[in-house]
Amino acid sequence: MSANRFAGPDGPPATRDKDAGSRVLLKRIREIMAEPMAPQQRLDRIVAQIAQSMVAEVCSVYALRADGVLELYATVGLNPKAVHQSQLRLGQGLVGTIAASSRPLNLAEAQKHPAFEYLPETGEELYNSFLGVPILRAGRTLGVLVVQNEAHRAYGDDEGEAMETVAMVIGEMIATGDLRSLSSAGVELDLAKPVTHHGQPLSEGIGLGHVVLHEPRVVVTAMFNDDTQAELERLAAALSSLRLTIDDMLSRGDVAFEGEHRDVLETYRMFAHDKGWVQRMEEAIRNGLTAEAGVEKVQSDMRARLSTVTDPYLRERMSDFDDLANRLLRQLISGEPSHGAKSLPEDAIIVARHMGAAELLDYPRDRLRGLVLEEGAPTSHVVIVARAMNIPVAGGAKGVVAMSDSGDAIIVDGLSGHVHLRPQPDVEAAYAEKVRFRARRQEEYRTLRDRPSVTADGHPVSLLMNAGLLVDLPQVDQSGAAGIGLFRTELQFMIAATFPRAEAQERLYRSVLDAAAGRPVTFRTLDIGGDKVLPYFRNAPDEENPALGWRAMRLALDRPGLLRTQVRALLKAASGRELRLMLPMVTELHEIDQARALIMREVKHLSRFGHGLPLTLRIGAMLEVPSLLFDLDGLMEKVDFVSIGSNDLFQFMYAADRGNSRVADRFETLSPTFLRALKSIADAAARHETPLTLCGEIAGRPLEALALAALGITTLSMSPAAIGPVKAAILKTDMAALRAAIADPLENGSTGADIRNIIREYAEAHAIAL
Ligand code: PEP
Ligand code: MG
Repeated sequence: MSANRFAGPDGPPATRDKDAGSRVLLKRIREIMAEPMAPQQRLDRIVAQIAQSMVAEVCSVYALRADGVLELYATVGLNPKAVHQSQLRLGQGLVGTIAASSRPLNLAEAQKHPAFEYLPETGEELYNSFLGVPILRAGRTLGVLVVQNEAHRAYGDDEGEAMETVAMVIGEMIATGDLRSLSSAGVELDLAKPVTHHGQPLSEGIGLGHVVLHEPRVVVTAMFNDDTQAELERLAAALSSLRLTIDDMLSRGDVAFEGEHRDVLETYRMFAHDKGWVQRMEEAIRNGLTAEAGVEKVQSDMRARLSTVTDPYLRERMSDFDDLANRLLRQLISGEPSHGAKSLPEDAIIVARHMGAAELLDYPRDRLRGLVLEEGAPTSHVVIVARAMNIPVAGGAKGVVAMSDSGDAIIVDGLSGHVHLRPQPDVEAAYAEKVRFRARRQEEYRTLRDRPSVTADGHPVSLLMNAGLLVDLPQVDQSGAAGIGLFRTELQFMIAATFPRAEAQERLYRSVLDAAAGRPVTFRTLDIGGDKVLPYFRNAPDEENPALGWRAMRLALDRPGLLRTQVRALLKAASGRELRLMLPMVTELHEIDQARALIMREVKHLSRFGHGLPLTLRIGAMLEVPSLLFDLDGLMEKVDFVSIGSNDLFQFMYAADRGNSRVADRFETLSPTFLRALKSIADAAARHETPLTLCGEIAGRPLEALALAALGITTLSMSPAAIGPVKAAILKTDMAALRAAIADPLENGSTGADIRNIIREYAEAHAIAL
């Protein structure tokens, strides 16, 4: 797919004549900016000039105040008495909608728009057509600029562009404090009040710290160029320097640029050469902007479009362009493509509209306390990486970028999704206590790291970790995991722009085995489909029920080329060591035979060509589809090991979508029906002496982990952060006593809540923290 598709303009490039119109407007605005005059007069002159150039009857500027209200600051055409009187909340009316979404609105019949709201003091009922653009500065919405006409007029793209450019100039006036003298006491433009955003919890943990605005690190102050040719040359030089930097990072072979970081850099290299993107920036410079203002202008257009795109692949690609534009801006302004760690506070909480995975990896991990995103979903690349790095994340915090400033105090609660900006002292104190408590706990867990994981009555319970990215690997040592019980290979595929090449796969797998240093590692073959989307994999038809669709083994067996390449990379990476391969979403036993035949063909192929092979090869299956529960003996006979995928097994047994919190949390994971199913698996594994693990989320919750161990599931794989708490619980538990306590309720009509209570009481009596 050509990258031009994302960078190119929506329609055909503007014609020379239209450009001339916008050049003249810019020239006039520039003259107004250069003349000495009072701020109100300057704003009034600007709106008058815009109205004249665009043959509009109305032109108005609304500025966003600290209390989230948009106030009319200047107008020509509306009732002049409404200036500094007329107000709209963020999200209210057309103007509020533009500010809240940071997107322009171009309407021939404004009054028919569902968001239209009539403000009697302005007299705007006369006007039918409406063009409004957000006043943006460094990614932050500071207000809205509007033109209106009586006639049902369609404003052209070129007029929208001209308005956006002038809006940048007004943004500069607001940001530099030029308009401060115009605001009345108590409703200033500087946004300094406490605000709580109710976002979505995306990665667990609590972060207390200070805002680092991801996007406004670079502030463009020089807007207009004096010499177009010189600015075009500056842009070309910055672009070539940026490309060289990326090439250099890629060729350095530095471990910091391996794995997922490398995949993203390769995408950047492709985009840095994108002709459509470069042409649009050049066009903006030809229209009178400086190189940096041109880059920012194209970036703003891209952001506006990003907010309308729902396709996850396009969104990731457009946010890659956004990252790249930031790098280019830094290159133009400071001659340095990456931000300096020096300016980062010790307790940085990154606040961004959206963000690429590579940009997060650019920040020094030891200073990061959290991440707040206006967008972001559980499957966004940056969220996957943040979770692997154990950074608390809240997403969906609309408006947070506009309301925050670098250095503001901020709290991100990755458990509830709440974000407290400039928190009140009591809120801050409560959270600080929570963080101290968690830190004390972490310290205790660290002291347990090298203690063997054995119950108080001497039963070993092996604790392994789940992983999937290169950034997970330091945790193998730090968490005290006995190995990697689940390596989700699809994560490398999910954060890449295209299918990772065989060599990249092999490199990652080898690094994983190296980091594990002899501890067992179970690689799960690609588990794509369902909620694990590879946006570039377009062969998949749209499915009504993707969780029940063409995924994991089904897809792997129908498209054996994918699995074959992966298996070959795994076999090569594990040459001379043990290789444990696990098949996801097995539904019928014959799928294991088919996969085994494919794997053995690859073994044969490699050995024919003289490649070193793994010392031992074990093939196991995930048990996560209920059909297998009815042939457990057959399953245990067929494989070298089994791992229970309790996330999916529970989802399918209870017909409850794991990603839908309305139903996912409705049913009790400790309900006797589910536990009896787990026990029948444990009993079958014991009968056949087939090693059994469980690698779903419940393994990482101490109370559930105790229940699992009591059922006889004594190898558990979990997120690395859960190993300490689970081990602490295991060490204090007399397994025989707990087993006896739940044996009867398990069989005799108790509820999941009863079983949970029994374990909770046991834990309280034995000072076990749950
Ligand atoms: C599971 O389903 O429990 C599991 C471990 O796999 P995933 O969460 O990756 O689907
Ligand atoms: Mg699963």
